[in-house]
Amino acid sequence: MTTAAYSSLLAHTRRTATLGSIDALVSWDQETYLPPSGAAFRAEQMSLLAELTHTARTDNRVGEWLSACESDAALKPDPLAQANLRELRRDFDRATKLPTELVAEMAKVGSQSQEAWKHARANNDFKHFEPWLEKMFALMRKKAECYGWAAGGEVYDALLGEYEPGASAKEIEAVFTPLRGRLANLVARYAGAKNKPSDAVLSKLIPADKQHAFGQAVLKAIGFDFQAGRLDTTAHPFCSGMAPGDTRLTTRYRDEHFSDALYGSMHEAGHGMYEQGLPKDKYFGQPIADSISLGIHESQSRMWENFVGRSREFWVFALPLARQHFGDALPQTTVDELYRAVNTAKPSLIRVEADEATYNLHVMIRFELERALLRGDLKVKDLPGEWNKRYKDYLGIDVPSDAKGCMQDVHWSFGLVGYFPTYTLGNLYAGQFWEKINKDIPDLSSRMEKGDFAALKTWLNTSIHAHGKRYRAGELCQMLTGKPLSADPLLNHLQRKLDGVYGV
Ligand code: ZN
Repeated sequence: MTTAAYSSLLAHTRRTATLGSIDALVSWDQETYLPPSGAAFRAEQMSLLAELTHTARTDNRVGEWLSACESDAALKPDPLAQANLRELRRDFDRATKLPTELVAEMAKVGSQSQEAWKHARANNDFKHFEPWLEKMFALMRKKAECYGWAAGGEVYDALLGEYEPGASAKEIEAVFTPLRGRLANLVARYAGAKNKPSDAVLSKLIPADKQHAFGQAVLKAIGFDFQAGRLDTTAHPFCSGMAPGDTRLTTRYRDEHFSDALYGSMHEAGHGMYEQGLPKDKYFGQPIADSISLGIHESQSRMWENFVGRSREFWVFALPLARQHFGDALPQTTVDELYRAVNTAKPSLIRVEADEATYNLHVMIRFELERALLRGDLKVKDLPGEWNKRYKDYLGIDVPSDAKGCMQDVHWSFGLVGYFPTYTLGNLYAGQFWEKINKDIPDLSSRMEKGDFAALKTWLNTSIHAHGKRYRAGELCQMLTGKPLSADPLLNHLQRKLDGVYGV
């Protein structure tokens, strides 16, 4: 079955991925243990690795091997080979479609623009940022035109495809629009509730080392493999599935708010268990050992963080464990108190601080605005006004300043456009998978109360992780749940839970 060109292609791909894994290791080190004086040389190391990786990805031989494999009848009956070829062709075309000058200009303007954003945000001065944002969107439009998009699609799809292969702005709009209306209704419903939950119990003072030990115990219980991974501390938490048998999680601790690190760690562990579940031992470097998309990746993190971690069942298991680790910090606390405290829903200004329900409204606002900016339907100078109008319409709040409004996120400043929707796609996929999982594992609730998460993890391993990139996200969703992606499961989950918490 294996032809010479296919073997050469896979050997090359494995070397390229190995370079990528070294880059991931030094990047992780930079975010965790690198001493300050090492930063300058680290930049040199990373730029060399980036250059070597780019050269490997755009090597002419890759194109020749791909063409030979694509016309090779012997590979046709092999679905894994076909999935690999589809994805490798896509990567190669994308890597070679951008002119070198455009790549260099995007890097240069991106870093200048990010500096301008920092300054503008600190001084609440949108005018200072405006010309840079205009340049970035013009460059992103150029980039999208190089990539191109499917017939019937639009410019946005080309950028979205980098993070969510195969998805289109139209499809996202079709799911987001009903979600937006119903979420806005939910927000209004709980704003008027008499019996609002208090989250005071989360503000006990608990030292970081105790939080770390508790976090590790929780991650172990849910199934993160510490023989094949670590948990460390950083300023901006992330997960890096850098190599076979090596997945690094990072988190950060606030002594006065222990749930931040707990949910941050569970979130990253969800990403980490996906990485650990991919068939990297067998196929490292091949697309069939890689994650499907950012949306599916995020579905894994959100599932463990929100669907598991914010459930009453989880706290039945985790409260005694927290007591063991926190000493006498939670003596009178009840499961119900914790459950209510971690499930408040209240409109707020800042996306990264938003709760499970309102978070999606923040994402939708960004999706609508970046799409309009890219299509030219919205001028950059009108962005603050449109931003503020939407925050009023969807969340019912007034935006006091652009610093806390349209300049709060770093993404657009360096050209991360088409990325935001993957956060909400993750929540939606998680909701739809969760509905199916509960049908397939009818006693999941009582298992979780006992701290038994094995059946859930096995379901995710066999249904999602094991396939790597064999299927596209939409295809996998249809295959697993029998339906295309819909807003209903997430909304039903949120309403069921929050109606109970708010007593409405
Ligand atoms: Zn995440």
